[in-house]
Amino acid sequence: MEQYLLALDQGTTSSRCIVFDREGNIRSQVNREFQQFYPQDGWVEQDPTEIWASQMGVVVETMLKMGITASQVAAIGITNQRETVVVWERESGNPICRAIVWQCRRTAEQCAKWKAEGLEPLIHEKTGLLLDPYFSASKLKWILDNVPGARSRAEKGELCFGTVDSWLIYRLTGGKVHATDPSNASRTMLFNIHTMDWDEELLSIFDIPRAMLPQVKPSSGLFGYTDQGLFGGQIPIAGVAGDQQSALFGQCCLNAGDVKNTYGTGGFLLMNTGNTPVSSKQGLLTTVGWRIGNEVSYVLEGSVFTCGAVIQWLRDGMKLFKKASETEKMANKVPDTAGVYLVPAFVGLGAPYWDAYARASIQGLTRAATANHIVRAALEAMAYQTVDVLDAMRQEAPFPIGSIRVDGGAAANNFLLQFQSDVLGIPLTRPSCVETTAKGAASLAALGVGYYSGFEEMKRTWKTDRVFAPTMGAEQRETLLRGWHKAVERSLAWAKVES
Ligand code: ADP
Repeated sequence: MEQYLLALDQGTTSSRCIVFDREGNIRSQVNREFQQFYPQDGWVEQDPTEIWASQMGVVVETMLKMGITASQVAAIGITNQRETVVVWERESGNPICRAIVWQCRRTAEQCAKWKAEGLEPLIHEKTGLLLDPYFSASKLKWILDNVPGARSRAEKGELCFGTVDSWLIYRLTGGKVHATDPSNASRTMLFNIHTMDWDEELLSIFDIPRAMLPQVKPSSGLFGYTDQGLFGGQIPIAGVAGDQQSALFGQCCLNAGDVKNTYGTGGFLLMNTGNTPVSSKQGLLTTVGWRIGNEVSYVLEGSVFTCGAVIQWLRDGMKLFKKASETEKMANKVPDTAGVYLVPAFVGLGAPYWDAYARASIQGLTRAATANHIVRAALEAMAYQTVDVLDAMRQEAPFPIGSIRVDGGAAANNFLLQFQSDVLGIPLTRPSCVETTAKGAASLAALGVGYYSGFEEMKRTWKTDRVFAPTMGAEQRETLLRGWHKAVERSLAWAKVES
């Protein structure tokens, strides 16, 4: 009987399950959105039970749709929204409060305080991250400080902390395994990417009891088996990685110097830097890609907070079109943006600017501007943000960047990718399977149980759909980028309170 790989892709807005066959083809797929809570300005929460229930629901539905049983699943791979914090009771498995989501800015003040105390260089050196509310540590401390009884119970070992991967592993194994992988651990700001272990000094600075932390296991290999009662048979969980690292793996960017860019809600450019962590002074993050056996692959990452989300805003907020896919036609209806620039700094700007006070703007408007020009300006902005991140990466990466593999929902847009290639001046390759995040987790699991004999077998499942090559002249590129940088300049520090 044929065996398959099950990828659990637990994203920020939806839980997905995808079944892959040995050749890497998608055989079945189910997606379920779940609720987001915005209790205060800048706060974002999710219900951990709903995360689990929606994820469990799509796994069962996918298996039923395909008519497969647990014995036909070679392994489960998990990939997940990163940095989001869940705290639950070790004994019952019940969460003690809502999950605090990566986008939540409630700890901005706490982070500013730590920065003022001069902690950032130490944190950057150990974790490869910047002192920003984006990462888990300040969120976990917030829970310990604000949920009644949480700190004393955590100290007694009664509570477990985990990013979403740990939470799912715990529930899937019926509470037997409390573990994570280094790609997720490296986003908590508690993990030392050089020693590859939780860091006592950081735990003490952030006041986090070690007893509540998960065990860190290699990204590929056995984490545990699913509880017998869940799927009518035990399935090995054998691959785990945070969504962006999983996408890098799924794109088969296995060698030092390989680069991928994802155009999803946010934008994430990642370079595999091999077994050497490369430190950045330009606002890029140094993080763990994955660990397989004793081999660690490090990554240089540029995180852009708003990418495809600007298209969502134009659709839902401005009502300029009904479907995101219409934007390609609209952009192609005009020869340029008529001088319009849109800077999508709705929640500030990430790499390379890291300005929490930047705000979005539309500039250069004249009476000539139409909805088509604004849509085109939004798509071009998605490309310009990647140019800024890539420029930073070019300055710091030890490898030349010859081409980039692309994925994510908005990578379906041919206008965007052609314009991107033009303003970068390098070719882009889009694979035929754009579900690279899920594919990465499935592949880690496949290697973990020996379903794939090795990297060569995995690489054979990656196929090109289309290559976009640059056609724009250098002069035009420079003129466009000058305009973009002028527009960014005027969006910076916008929301800062004047003293
Ligand atoms: P995520 O996994 O981050 O939730 P996806 O990778 O599914 O996101 O990508 C969805 C994003 O891509 C949405 O923000 C949507 O607006 C945008 N998007 C989807 N299709 C297109 C398209 N054809 N052109 C431009 N943007 C698109």
